[in-house]
Amino acid sequence: MFKTVFAKQFTIYFVIQLFSYILLAVALVYVFNSFFMSQQSQAMQESARRIAEIYYDGFTERRTPEEVNRLLDIERFILTEYQGSSLIILSPGLSIFDVSPDMEQHVQSIIDLFETFDFEALERGERVVTWSSMDGIFSEQVLKVGHPVIIDGYLMCAVFVSSSMPDMERSAHEMITITIICLMIAGSLSFMLVFLLSRTMTRPILEMSKTATMISAGDFEKRIDYEAVDEIGQLAKSLNDMAESLHRQEISRRLFIENVSHDLRSPLTSIRGFLQAILDGTIPPEKHEHYLNVIREETERLSKLTHDIIDLEKMNSPEITLNRTRFDINGLIRRIVVMFEETARNKRLAVSLVFADESYIVFADQEKISRVVYNLLDNAVKFAQEGGNVEVATGKKDKKVMVSVKDDGKGIPPDLQKQVFERFFKVDTSRGDDRKGSGLGLSIVSAFLRAHNEIAALRSEEGVGSVFSFELPLAPKEKEKG
Ligand code: ADP
Repeated sequence: MFKTVFAKQFTIYFVIQLFSYILLAVALVYVFNSFFMSQQSQAMQESARRIAEIYYDGFTERRTPEEVNRLLDIERFILTEYQGSSLIILSPGLSIFDVSPDMEQHVQSIIDLFETFDFEALERGERVVTWSSMDGIFSEQVLKVGHPVIIDGYLMCAVFVSSSMPDMERSAHEMITITIICLMIAGSLSFMLVFLLSRTMTRPILEMSKTATMISAGDFEKRIDYEAVDEIGQLAKSLNDMAESLHRQEISRRLFIENVSHDLRSPLTSIRGFLQAILDGTIPPEKHEHYLNVIREETERLSKLTHDIIDLEKMNSPEITLNRTRFDINGLIRRIVVMFEETARNKRLAVSLVFADESYIVFADQEKISRVVYNLLDNAVKFAQEGGNVEVATGKKDKKVMVSVKDDGKGIPPDLQKQVFERFFKVDTSRGDDRKGSGLGLSIVSAFLRAHNEIAALRSEEGVGSVFSFELPLAPKEKEKG
């Protein structure tokens, strides 16, 4: 039904307002009407009572006839000028004592009308208030108030004050009209306000939707310009953050593809070149062994790169899932060190294991931790100097085990020590030792440790060597079975 949030919001506000105003108007009309009626009725009853009192005083000679006339004049004036009421004073025998000027022409009608009037209540001294028609005098319904004048138990006469409905309603209607006009002005103003408010609220949403479409189409540099601190502002901020993150991911994806294609192309080119040269005899047979070794190294480099890419893929998943088990970290280190035996022998390295305790049972993801140790050891062996030393040590530290891999290589300049953990970062790409690497090893180390809530620490001094270390939680002791 509603195609836009604006239409929905506007209609809801509008309908609510309309209902509120209608309700308010109805309530006001009702309140005003009943207020005026009761005011009028009370004023008429008061007048009737006062006039009856004056008559009583006159009959009982408490006041002189002049005084009575003067007071009656005042009351008549109040009745006609202020209340718009008519006055009839008559005895139960229907002799008319007094009528207001507007009634003078209806004397016969009054007598006819009161012939059927029941004076019983008045005779008992009660006051009478009725809504009735006074045919022949008033064409509309009339509010009639009757007050008795009783002397020595006899009803001498009754004072009737009557007022026709339209007269009373006129005053109420004037008030109601003013109120309704005010409500209509307020209604139109709030209608405009609601329109503007809905527009201001929905405009940023429309803009966001446009921007989101552009972002999803690949324009990651687009941002939403809405700074308010409300919910829409928060949504705009989230969308901007999302665009920012997508932008960063896109940059890193491009960089990754560039680096990977370069790293794949260069070993493949040299392998193909050397093989071609061996096949067509450019390389003499006595040098074949040397170049075949180079080719083997290149294939190793390719194999390491594919491993790294697989690990990197794992790191890219939103959360690295850990498969934690209990295992002996010293045992794991021993098995990995064996893999580097040949390389270490070729480089005449002394690889030593310094374990403060025979075994340390940790609770971690064994596969990922062996990748961490492998990468650190790979770097240590690669960067240690010819005939140098590599040391892998473990020791207890509080409730954790600390693992460190130390070499006596060139070290890493202090300003680059943070960057070595970034993807594809290599200190010196031209350096021979570094050729085989893709610059991914340490970023994998730090991501896998981060997944364990641990960090990779580095201490390195140029010309002295580097120590990479990390900690792992010791597994809680298993309960004895049985
Ligand atoms: P790679 O997989 O190519 O070895 P890494 O991420 O493991 O890449 O290392 C990044 C860079 O950090 C290396 O290219 C090297 O310059 C430097 N580096 C890492 N370990 C050491 C070390 N033990 N000694 C000196 N430099 C190192």
